[in-house]
Order: sequence, then C-alpha cells, then structure tokens
Amino acid sequence: VTPQNVALIIGVTGIVGNSLAGILPVSDTPGGPWKVYGVARRPRPAWNADHPVHYIQCDVSDSKDTQTKLSPLTDITHIFWVTWANRPTESECCQINGAMFQNVLDAVTPNAANLSHICIQTGHKHYIGPFEAFGKIKPHETPFVEDVPRLDAPNFYYTLEDIAFEACKNKPGLTWSVHRPAVIFGFSPYSMMNMLDSLIVYAAICKHENAPLKFPGTKAAWNCYFVASDADLIAEQQIWCCVDPNGKNEAFNCSNGDVFKWKRLWKVLADKFEVEYEEFDENQEYVSLAERMKDKGPVWDDIVKKNNLTVTKLEEVATFWFADLMFLGECMLDNMNKSKEHGFFGFRNSENSLISVIDKMKAHKIVP
Ligand code: NDP
Repeated sequence: VTPQNVALIIGVTGIVGNSLAGILPVSDTPGGPWKVYGVARRPRPAWNADHPVHYIQCDVSDSKDTQTKLSPLTDITHIFWVTWANRPTESECCQINGAMFQNVLDAVTPNAANLSHICIQTGHKHYIGPFEAFGKIKPHETPFVEDVPRLDAPNFYYTLEDIAFEACKNKPGLTWSVHRPAVIFGFSPYSMMNMLDSLIVYAAICKHENAPLKFPGTKAAWNCYFVASDADLIAEQQIWCCVDPNGKNEAFNCSNGDVFKWKRLWKVLADKFEVEYEEFDENQEYVSLAERMKDKGPVWDDIVKKNNLTVTKLEEVATFWFADLMFLGECMLDNMNKSKEHGFFGFRNSENSLISVIDKMKAHKIVP
C-alpha cells in the first residue's frame, strides 16, 4: 500500500491557504484522501473551522516555536508554502521570508521520511520586481512566460526558490514546484493582500451610506484587459503538481485563462449589493480607495453591529492599499501555455470567481 498523502499548509487561513484547506480533505481530490495540517499564528477563525484540518498555531518566523510544533509531524509528505511576511525593504523581505521557509524545512525535512514535494507560491512580481522597484527597473515583456532570466534586483521570490532548490538537492526524491499567480480572487478576511474582499467591503459601505459605487482607479485600469487568479484554481494547480510527474521541478503561471474588464465586473459588484453603478468619470479627480475609506472605521463597526455580522475591524477585512495598487494602471498579462502543455487544464470564469467570493463573504457574515 502507498502511504497516505499528508499535507502541511503554511498559511492555512490565507487567501489560498483557506482554499487548500477546503479542497484537500475532499475525498475525490487527486492524491486523496489527504490528511491535512494547517499552520497560522492567530487562533482559528470561525470561517475556517469547518475544514477537517489539524490546526496548529505556530509562528514560523520563530525557529524554536517551529521546531517544537512541526518536528513531531513525521508523517508529512507535501508542503504548501502559501504565506509571506512584509518588511519595509526588499532585502529585509528576502531575509525574513527566507528565514521562515528555512525554519519550516529544518523542522520537517530531517523528521518526515516520506516528504516528497514542496509547492511554493510566489507571483507576478517574479517578472515585474518587488513593490519598491516598480517604475525603477524594466519588467519582463508581457504576456509573462515562466522561463525567463531573473531580474537584476533583490526579490524574496528568488530567495524562496533557491532555498527549495537546495532542499531538493540534499534530499533525493524530493521535488518542488513554483506557482506564480496574478492578483488572487479568493476569500480570506485574514489575507494581507485581498483585492476583492476590499472592494466588497467598499460596496457594502456604499450601500450603507446610500452612495453610488464610484470606481476608485485610473482610466487605464477601467478600460484595460485584466487577468486574475482564482484561489481555488491555484490550490488545484498546486495539488496537480503534487500528483503528476509533469508538474515536478517546474515553475508555472496560474491565472484563470480569460481576460475581463473592470468596467464590466463593476456592474456585477454593484448589482450584488444593489448600489447605484457609476461609469468611470474622466473629469473626476483621482482619489485612492485608501483615502476614501480612511475615516470609515466607525461606519464599519456600525454596519457590523446593525447587521449582526461576524465581528471584524475594517483594517482587518480590507486591504485598500492593495486594491489601489491593482487599479493604478494597466494590468500586465501572463499566459498559461506552459501549464497547459504540461497537462494542467484548469480554468475559471473570472466573473463567476467574483460572484463566488461575494457569496462566501455573505455566507460567512463578513458583509451584509
Ligand atoms: P495571505 O496574506 O493571504 O495569507 C498569509 C497566511 O499566512 C495567513 O494564514 C497568516 O495567518 C499566515 N502567516 C503569516 N505569517 C505567519 C507566520 N510568521 N507564521 C505562521 N503563519 C503565518 O497570503 P498570500 O496567499 O496572499 O501570499 C502568499 C504568496 O502569494 C506571497 O508571496 C504573495 O506575494 C503572493 N501573491 C499574492 C497575491 C494576492 O493577491 N494576495 C497575488 C499574487 C501573489 P496569521 O496572520 O494568523 O499568521
């Protein structure tokens, strides 16, 4: 008999971690039935508690905590790296993210004899450079393809890759895969970057204040073709890499496989909250979403109370700075040829992805 596959999700309450926690335990998931461990620092939130996952509260930036909590898990076969830490500079990001990843590998690799695969999630910044380099270094040509040389700038995505390569070199039979999504469409009120949750919260606030849903971005963002990556689709691609030999030791883009325009999705969002839809107005002065929402904390508290919602703080459920960044200019597209050529054919309809995230936000009583 082949031993059971056992997943360790680092970042189980994050935007993709929560999807992995939902999909891995399902009986007909490839490689299943999986046993699943999930790690995050905060106590387990109610919206994650239904997933049959062994929840472990652990701070992986703390090497002692990581050793104590993860070294006893000797049955782990697959690691899903779906977390990160932000710091003021990219060189600090390289340092902290590298240390976190190494802490986990140091706790797991010597003890889990059957460890066979590591998935690491990075993203389009592999091709653009880190936030601090935006506008300063020349990004790769779009549509992004996987097998291009690295940019000449520090990037914690490169640090993570190098650590994974080294771990696999030192342990025969251990393989890696790298997953590079565009902006992720998914449900997680704990995510450090969640564009849709932020826009959905914005729509709920507009509804509450009886205000029209103004587009807080630029004309370029309103009109251009956009790509996004559904969180469940990313989880599916990662699981595919765990079970299919064609997915081993390769990096893959992971986007929905369609393009859309915000001018259309804006209407979908407005309709779902029954707020007045407003076309982008060229004459309107640019005001970022973060600026528009900066005094709305008490309004949010009021919405939560009046509608009997799960208790949250505005700064927790919305990351407006990130939505602003995504709405600053034209989207940079990628392509999915490599993934399809290797045998992963998953896709999503981006409009349906948006609707499904709205429905989850409502079902878990994060928004009315
Ligand atoms: P999220 O911010 O959504 O989730 C992070 C998860 O990790 C949470 O569960 C968090 O819970 C946990 N976590 C954070 N720090 C620690 C720690 N020290 N120890 C243990 N758990 C921790 O992550 P993403 O999926 O967004 O990010 C993963 C990668 O994907 C990043 O490299 C990111 O740049 C990339 N990416 C993200 C995109 C997006 O739209 N979000 C787009 C493209 C790429 P807790 O805070 O409770 O510990």
